[in-house]
Amino acid sequence: MEPNLKIPEVLNADSNVTQRDLRYSQLKQATIMMVDDEPIMLEIVQALLEDVGYQNFITIQDSNQAVQKLLDSNPDLLLLDLDMPDVNGFDILKTVRTFARYQFMPIIILTAAEDPKSKLKALELGATDFLSKPVDPSELVLRVRNTLSAKAFQDQLAYYDSLTGLPNRKLFIDRLGWEILLATRENKSLVLLDIGLDRFRQINETIGLTSGDQILKIAAERIHAVIRSSDFLGRGKSNENMARIGGDEFSIVLYGVNCVENASIIGNRVLQSIKQPFVLDDNDMYLSASIGISVFPQDGDDVESIIKHAAAAKDFAKKQGMDNFQFYSSDINSRAKEIMKMESDLRKALENDEFELYYQPQVNASNGKVMGMECLLRWIHPEDGFIPPDVFITVAENMGLIVPLGEWVLRQACFSASEWVLQGHEALKVSVNVSPQQFNEDGLVDSIKLAINDSGLNPHNLVLEITESMLMGNIDHFAKLLHEINDLGVSISLDDFGTGYSSLSYLKKFPINELKIDKSFLTDVPAIKQDNLIVKAIIAMSHGLGQKVVAEGVENEAQLAFLKALNCDIIQGYYFSKPLNKVDFSNYLSLNASLKNYRIK
Ligand code: C2E
Ligand code: MG
Ligand code: MG
Repeated sequence: MEPNLKIPEVLNADSNVTQRDLRYSQLKQATIMMVDDEPIMLEIVQALLEDVGYQNFITIQDSNQAVQKLLDSNPDLLLLDLDMPDVNGFDILKTVRTFARYQFMPIIILTAAEDPKSKLKALELGATDFLSKPVDPSELVLRVRNTLSAKAFQDQLAYYDSLTGLPNRKLFIDRLGWEILLATRENKSLVLLDIGLDRFRQINETIGLTSGDQILKIAAERIHAVIRSSDFLGRGKSNENMARIGGDEFSIVLYGVNCVENASIIGNRVLQSIKQPFVLDDNDMYLSASIGISVFPQDGDDVESIIKHAAAAKDFAKKQGMDNFQFYSSDINSRAKEIMKMESDLRKALENDEFELYYQPQVNASNGKVMGMECLLRWIHPEDGFIPPDVFITVAENMGLIVPLGEWVLRQACFSASEWVLQGHEALKVSVNVSPQQFNEDGLVDSIKLAINDSGLNPHNLVLEITESMLMGNIDHFAKLLHEINDLGVSISLDDFGTGYSSLSYLKKFPINELKIDKSFLTDVPAIKQDNLIVKAIIAMSHGLGQKVVAEGVENEAQLAFLKALNCDIIQGYYFSKPLNKVDFSNYLSLNASLKNYRIK
């Protein structure tokens, strides 16, 4: 049964109010239903209870209406007279207890009957307690308070999550059922947001349960704050719109006219709130969330399908690379199927040698000499042909395949680079993209050492490209790993700089040797003044920190001239060359080395 009552809320516990005061004041919010054929009796009991602060009453004189009224209003306590014409108290008691949701609802029997037989019968039918008529005021108040306290305590245990104080899955499902009934009756929409914290399980393993719990609490508070500050939620108090429905899963229900439009606004705000750093005992953690949204009645007309579809949309959001929200659509099913097919094809692709590494030259901005190259993965699918990495890397990350695949790339890159170094290109730097997932697995440092040893490549020729999304999770853990890698002599390059987190604190924590300005900042230079200023600032900052700067996505001479004027160190982009296969890159390298005057102005 859905409890209307609730004892102390962990989320909002106000330190100025004692827990006990809070509890009693919340009990006074209870809805008390009374069924008695004598109007005077109803009036007296209500007046006595009002005197001590109770406010919500439903009084019923016609016992024929009692059960229907109870189903509609879902009270916290029923005060029931036994002797009534037509339908008597026993009948009502019996019917009420046949509903699963009212099996444990407290029912106090008000009766003048002194005979133990009636009491026994009422007890057998499920009465909670008795009060004799005429009622003794203090006894009435005491019984009502104790019964409601016991109910609130049971509700708290059964329906609320002890960590966050939020409604749990059970209560949430129950409430959603009610809300769907109401929405159907009122012909209104209802929206469900299913929020999952990304990679929480892995993070929990590296930081331990206590810190994990702390994160969940903070996340719950942040999501709750988003709802509280949103003034368009419609019916219900903010703490009733939200629940913790799984270990790292929260749900929000939105009602009303514009709830579908508002779902995106709330979704966005939740994503932003989770992206703020979580500060735990000096260790900053960065998280993101994935959100699935389903709408009643379009996406399903019962609790089960609404929940199932929001969960499917959330899974899809995760597969789309996390940190986003997705509305459920029948499309999701077909797109999910495509992803499943890709997963199964990807599984075979590594064994079947369907991957190929391409190499894109990185050129010294001042003299046009090839300094190195970035290794870019290509998948040549036997039926579908070329599939770009932007499409399959995320899928490979989600299925864990990126770990062996990344290892394959690393070894391939080291072996190729080693050949070119032996041919005389001693200073050539080979850059390899590393997925955050590889950092979460044990053994990354070992596989780097192995690739270096087996290929004979000098570690100084190797650069690992990481992205800001690496910052998800345990920063100290990553910092330690990066230092270990750096200590081997391998350089670290921060890829796609400026597109991820705005926090710059990691520039101090991480040993970063090189920074790659994301191509989105370079598309419109030198035409757009703001972009010029951003690029200028990034280069100045990076040089100030002793890092080299690579500009990627350089396609024309105007961009090149602009970057040269700012002393950008290295240029990568179509202006010099697209990514090339191994043979073509070898030729490019030889030609470049043989040129006295490089193609640069
Ligand atoms: P990224 O690491 O930022 O790589 C740069 C991307 O920009 C490459 O796309 C490259 O082909 C493209 N690009 C280079 N110059 C230009 C230009 O002048 N104009 C334009 N429009 N684009 C240019 P690509 O090869 O499609 O790779 C996309 C992303 O896939 C990469 O972005 C990287 O994040 C990921 N990726 C590629 N290979 C690997 C890999 O081996 N492992 C991992 N984890 N990720 C990889
Ligand atoms: Mg890269
Ligand atoms: Mg990049």
